[in-house]
Amino acid sequence: MKILDMHCDTLGIAMRDYENFSLLKNEASVDFQKMQKGNYMGQFFAMFLPPRQFAERMGRTLPEDDEMIRIMSSTLYRELEKHSDLIAFAGNAADLEKNNKDGKMSAFLTIEDGRSVEGSFEKLQGYYDLGVRLISLTWNYANCFGSPNSLDKEVMNTSLTQFGKEAIEWMNDKGIIVDVSHLSDGGFFDVAKLSKKPFVASHSNCRALSNHQRNLTDEMIPLMANAGGVAGINFAPAFLAEDITSKDSLVSDMVRHIKHFVKVGGIECVGMGSDFDGIGGNLEVKDASMMQMIFEALRKEGFSEDQIEKIAYTNVLRVIKETL
Ligand SMILES: [Zn+2]
Repeated sequence: MKILDMHCDTLGIAMRDYENFSLLKNEASVDFQKMQKGNYMGQFFAMFLPPRQFAERMGRTLPEDDEMIRIMSSTLYRELEKHSDLIAFAGNAADLEKNNKDGKMSAFLTIEDGRSVEGSFEKLQGYYDLGVRLISLTWNYANCFGSPNSLDKEVMNTSLTQFGKEAIEWMNDKGIIVDVSHLSDGGFFDVAKLSKKPFVASHSNCRALSNHQRNLTDEMIPLMANAGGVAGINFAPAFLAEDITSKDSLVSDMVRHIKHFVKVGGIECVGMGSDFDGIGGNLEVKDASMMQMIFEALRKEGFSEDQIEKIAYTNVLRVIKETL
């Protein structure tokens, strides 16, 4: 079974020693060899911008946001060039299909935390030109797009900013996927109302099963599904387990969340968004090479090959076709 995964943080790991970091083979959960073994069609590589507050508290200074983006994107492009026999950049469905026909996997480039956009359409255009095809509007702090998911009700109900609202239309027109993972509930409902194209929750699960604010409610799931969008199953224990303090990431919990997405939003609204290399805990699916375990578990639960195919990659492929 082929795989399209909407979120990993492997480029964040690369930041630690980017000059020597290999994406072919490394100690992280995602590298090209593990992806090949896992039968990947493609991976969305996020450029995560770590919170400055954290770094400063640890006595470290981070490079400027655009310098981090330059480092992470050039690391990805350097590795793609080095291993062009295995994998190539994709900016749309045609690229993906061409790579697939040539026997290559595809890499999409994304930004996690739109803060570096700084309310500027010129900067958005610059990121598009760099190859960015998905932006997670916020991480866990407010920025030019809106507010984050939060236990604080007021923050959670906060709408998108005026720029955030205008940016949805711009991203729809240009061909950048709008990602609501990490966004406030108020922001989610704005995106659902304003987006003319399918949008995604690239790495979020079901709040009805794991009562964590990073997950989607049963009210949100049909809205996303009706817009043609997809949520990617996140492997972090806190978003999967019934007990959100659990440290165990289990395939049986992934199956529970997949079934719930299907029940509430239909078979076309769920995909993969592992969050590999951005999560901790005891992972049953430890790395990209082990992804087929999930599909095997779905078979045992009575899912048809056609249904599993949708979850593994064709739902995300559909979003790519309709947005990019
Ligand atoms: Zn994230």
